[in-house]
Amino acid sequence: MAAETSVLTGLEPRAFWAHFEALTRIARPSRHEEPVIEHVRQWAAGHGFELRQDEGRNLVINVPATPGRESAPPITLQGHLDMVCERDPASPNDPAEGRIVLVRDGDWLTADGTTLGADDGVAIAAMMALVEDSSLPHGPLELLMTVAEEVGLEGANALDPSLVGGSILVNLDSEEDGKLTVGCAGSTDTWIHVDAPREPAVDGAVTLAVTVSGGKGGHSGMGIALGRSNAVKVLGRALREASRTAPFRLVSFDGGKSRNAIPRDAVAVCSVAPEDEQAFRAAVASSAETIRDAFAKTDPDVSIAVDRADARADPWTSDATARQLDAVALVPTGPLALSPDFDDLVETSTSLGEAITEGDQLTLHSLSRSSNDSAMPEVIATLDAIARLAGGTLEEKFNYGGWRPNLDSAALAAGKAVYERVFGEPPIVTAVHAGLESAVISGKVGYELDMLSFGPQIEFPHSPDERVSVPTVERFWKLLVGVVDELSTSGGGKA
Ligand SMILES: [Zn+2]
Repeated sequence: MAAETSVLTGLEPRAFWAHFEALTRIARPSRHEEPVIEHVRQWAAGHGFELRQDEGRNLVINVPATPGRESAPPITLQGHLDMVCERDPASPNDPAEGRIVLVRDGDWLTADGTTLGADDGVAIAAMMALVEDSSLPHGPLELLMTVAEEVGLEGANALDPSLVGGSILVNLDSEEDGKLTVGCAGSTDTWIHVDAPREPAVDGAVTLAVTVSGGKGGHSGMGIALGRSNAVKVLGRALREASRTAPFRLVSFDGGKSRNAIPRDAVAVCSVAPEDEQAFRAAVASSAETIRDAFAKTDPDVSIAVDRADARADPWTSDATARQLDAVALVPTGPLALSPDFDDLVETSTSLGEAITEGDQLTLHSLSRSSNDSAMPEVIATLDAIARLAGGTLEEKFNYGGWRPNLDSAALAAGKAVYERVFGEPPIVTAVHAGLESAVISGKVGYELDMLSFGPQIEFPHSPDERVSVPTVERFWKLLVGVVDELSTSGGGKA
């Protein structure tokens, strides 16, 4: 292993930082993890650990128990090998080529002009350092290292369940110090397709584009309860309100760029009879005023503009236009239920992420989430009912189930006990309204996994500003060492 550079000199735990630094010299962009897989393979061989790889290229390394802990339940420690390789265009460094230059900034470690890869290099380095240190007691460990986490949890989705044999999984991909995460949301995508007839515009019809922009957007799960505007819904609302005083027909209706984000932009092209143009413009302007007021506190820059445009197709019929605007109005977007376990946490939500016009068809794409799998069928049934009322169809794709918090979990009890013992105060126990690999993995293994997730403080992941708090790495390490010890004593999982 390369000698530590000066920025890491003296940092504890030394073995962790040495492994972390080695990882910064190895390219590991998502889907191109071969060099880091080879690095881990050689390391495992050097220590005589058995390593297996599945067809999805995920790795598991089986580490025997330390003396006296052989009968403890096996524990799976898990993190991902890949990292997001972003860089400032002017930077000479590039993580995709294994060129990360570490920079110390007070208590923070960052990278010069690029992502750092602390997400999730800290997990891989911690696993390697932990099992090398014979003074740290643990039961049988499975080090599960997934690939392609940063591209839709691809590796975990392709996991061969025979890689995992334990009943406790500790995920090391959380980014908030002081928190133990014990739940996350599963998700299902749906598409409402409404096919509708078009017919030529009236003579002399004016074509107008109504554009919504300026909203804050945000993550469609974590940000769903912030009261921000959804550009697709705002556009639908403005057009419905206008339709009461000024008739028009839709030519197209599009908005949103990603299922994962609250739409910030949307545009509808409308065909308006020349004598109705002024009334239409006035009606949209009046609606825009009310909408801006509705979001005055949460999203004050949302705006609606009307401009002349070109029509590239005949408009839909009046009836079709009404049905499509009805569908947009009915599709729910926002939180649907709050967590019974944690304050201010959403349990179930749905977000209308995209509207797409293709030929004669309008498609409304939603992403629905819940940590409570049994709540999801009602959400999907609602979207299905809307599709049918609009004369359309619903397409559905289940992604993965939720991780429902279990406050009686043995892993959580161990995490809390160790945290309080080591840090002298209780941890914050929480869950996230977004997807985590652990939920996918637990869905694959076919039996109930007891799961826990924690990590050091990592800020601005996936950007060249990514940084990890050095003191929290040492806290993360102490917690991890304590948890594997605690879970392997006297039968393990004692509460
Ligand atoms: Zn990660």
